[in-house]
Amino acid sequence: MSNIKFEEITEDQQVKIPENLVFGQNFTTHYFEMDYETGKGWHNPTIKKFGNFQISPAALVFHYGQAIFEGLKAYKHADGKIALFRPDENIKRMNRSASRLCMPELDMDLAITALKDLVKLEHEWIPTKPGHSLYIRPLMFANDPYIGVKAGDKYKFMIMLSPVGPYYPEGFKPVPILTTDKYVRAVRKGVGDCKTAGNYAASLLAQREAKKEGYTQVLWLDAIEQKYIEEVGTMNIFMQFKDEVVTPNLTGSILPGVTRMSVIDILKDWGYNMIERQVSINEVVDAYNNQNLIEIFGTGTAAIISSVAKLKYNDTIMKFSDEHAGELGTKLYEEILGIQYGEREDKFGWMNYID
Ligand SMILES: *Cc1c(COP(=O)(O)O)cnc(C)c1O
Repeated sequence: MSNIKFEEITEDQQVKIPENLVFGQNFTTHYFEMDYETGKGWHNPTIKKFGNFQISPAALVFHYGQAIFEGLKAYKHADGKIALFRPDENIKRMNRSASRLCMPELDMDLAITALKDLVKLEHEWIPTKPGHSLYIRPLMFANDPYIGVKAGDKYKFMIMLSPVGPYYPEGFKPVPILTTDKYVRAVRKGVGDCKTAGNYAASLLAQREAKKEGYTQVLWLDAIEQKYIEEVGTMNIFMQFKDEVVTPNLTGSILPGVTRMSVIDILKDWGYNMIERQVSINEVVDAYNNQNLIEIFGTGTAAIISSVAKLKYNDTIMKFSDEHAGELGTKLYEEILGIQYGEREDKFGWMNYID
């Protein structure tokens, strides 16, 4: 074991594992917490009972938004082995978010150890039904009680665990997406490439308006010209044209997804002409009209792959299928899930086992 402190809990504080798992609603008995203070560094790494905690109403995070998070999953394989999918990439990304927001970086080894110790302790919570997993949510925020804009001197880092069923309980179903040019998500040189809380608050209104029109998610365009495709909600986006598969290159306003990165590697390995480049919404509409656009799908940890049923842009509705996910999206979904559940060869060495 590491130098992580463990606070014993009593039998009656043990939380029962619920029967029906709804995404993001149930939390395991324990979570991980650690404090930071300028001059002292990270200290007090502790695994303790998950529950409410006290914080000053003046805590910097509530007023000036220094909050970053991550999302990854743990899987239990048929042979009982427990594995995380590329956790080092999530911690690296969290450290990039931290440095952009003047927050302290994590020690890689300590963060990975904390993830593993916590998941190991709560291994009974990892659901084994198909499509189920244990969602892991690391979080960091500034908690100095101080009113006045400044970078905090005090931070908390936490890891909470939530068992989750399949993202789409009714099966891998395509989703309708609305392109918005009424709002923007992020500007280049801003914080769009960081998993920071404010980005999501900023996206809610567009999301709400899309829902009213019957669309599940919003496709964001670049903030300057409202011309180039960026990403969808909490997913990166891929378009399969006749002779290439394209995803927008990382320009600074797009969140660099771990699933995105993995899909790029798999497609290249499969021999696809996988290109990262700027792609305008007009190019996509033209390709659709010329029957040059085969399918569109999103990528992200929660759903892995999300096939696009239809994509609306102004008066154009590009229709794919409401019923069936696209062929390439399905193939990728099966491949990545297969790797994550230990049923397919992990040739890239992405799975990180907990022993
Ligand atoms: C988390 C996230 C993604 C997907 O990243 P993964 O690492 O693949 O889960 C894409 N876009 C946004 C805005 C996100 O927050």
